[in-house]
Amino acid sequence: PQEIDSTREGSAAGIDLQVDVPHPARMYDYFLGGKDNFPADRETGDQVIKVFPNSRNVVRQNRMFMNRSTRYLAAEAGIRQFLDIGTGIPTSPNLHEVAQSITPGARVVYTDNDPIVLTHARALLTGTREGRTAYIDADLRDTSRILQASQLHETLDLTEPIALSVIAIFHFIPNTDDPYGIMSRLVDLLPSGSYVSLTHLTPDFDPAMRDVERTYLSRGMSMHLRTRAEVERFFAGLEIVEPGLRVVHRWRPDLADPRDALPSGEEVGDSPAAHARIVAPAELTDAQVSIYGAVARKP
Ligand code: SAH
Repeated sequence: PQEIDSTREGSAAGIDLQVDVPHPARMYDYFLGGKDNFPADRETGDQVIKVFPNSRNVVRQNRMFMNRSTRYLAAEAGIRQFLDIGTGIPTSPNLHEVAQSITPGARVVYTDNDPIVLTHARALLTGTREGRTAYIDADLRDTSRILQASQLHETLDLTEPIALSVIAIFHFIPNTDDPYGIMSRLVDLLPSGSYVSLTHLTPDFDPAMRDVERTYLSRGMSMHLRTRAEVERFFAGLEIVEPGLRVVHRWRPDLADPRDALPSGEEVGDSPAAHARIVAPAELTDAQVSIYGAVARKP
């Protein structure tokens, strides 16, 4: 077993991390080269890399989209308040660090339902003195719990524009859990002039993504890939900003953060898995990235 502070805190707080089974948040951390994952996550992660060799590049490009879209929202759209659902295990820079590096007074509410993210929540709550961050432990499907949370109402002014980010989370919500209804209830909360940023895995470019989906499902996790038209439906009633819905590495590459400049060719993590090499965005195809992203404005 690894020496992870959060594990001890977690068990001390009576939180069951269920380390025997893989969890999406820890798999994502494994693909990113993080340390907050366990043998079950790494074993399933290697299985995913086997069927989709560019898995590490997918999560890395997704994370870089989060960074660029947040820079766009803070710097170009003038957004000062953020609601991030499906936050993940803290990975520097986190959304509040990106937003507050541009707007020191930015306020950020994070939400996730994974116990390991909860054990790390303190690392997410270290904002600037001017700004504020808060954490809500809730399931996206329990939308009313998020909408009624005191942390949300105490941290954000719901009469001023908010950026809602749902980045790499809706592909964990099958149609039987009403993903579009969830999205519309969240968008209803947002005042006019607010924004949404969303990314979503797709089978549109490479049939091997269906093997990724099957691997998640066979290990007891959810996974529901969506086509371009199905992803566009999440933006109902919103105006998608330029350059539109794109595979994430094609979305505003000009906003790249110098902190993301990991040298191409670098191996992430210590996995013996083949094809764990990091590739520069300009060298990646749509099929190798296979995750759509867009930012949209609520009129
Ligand atoms: N948004 C981050 C992390 C993506 S990993 C990023 O893009 O870098 C996906 C995250 O969604 C995980 O942390 C997982 O725990 C969370 N998640 C999955 N299903 C969820 C649900 N139903 N409710 C809340 N969070 C969920």
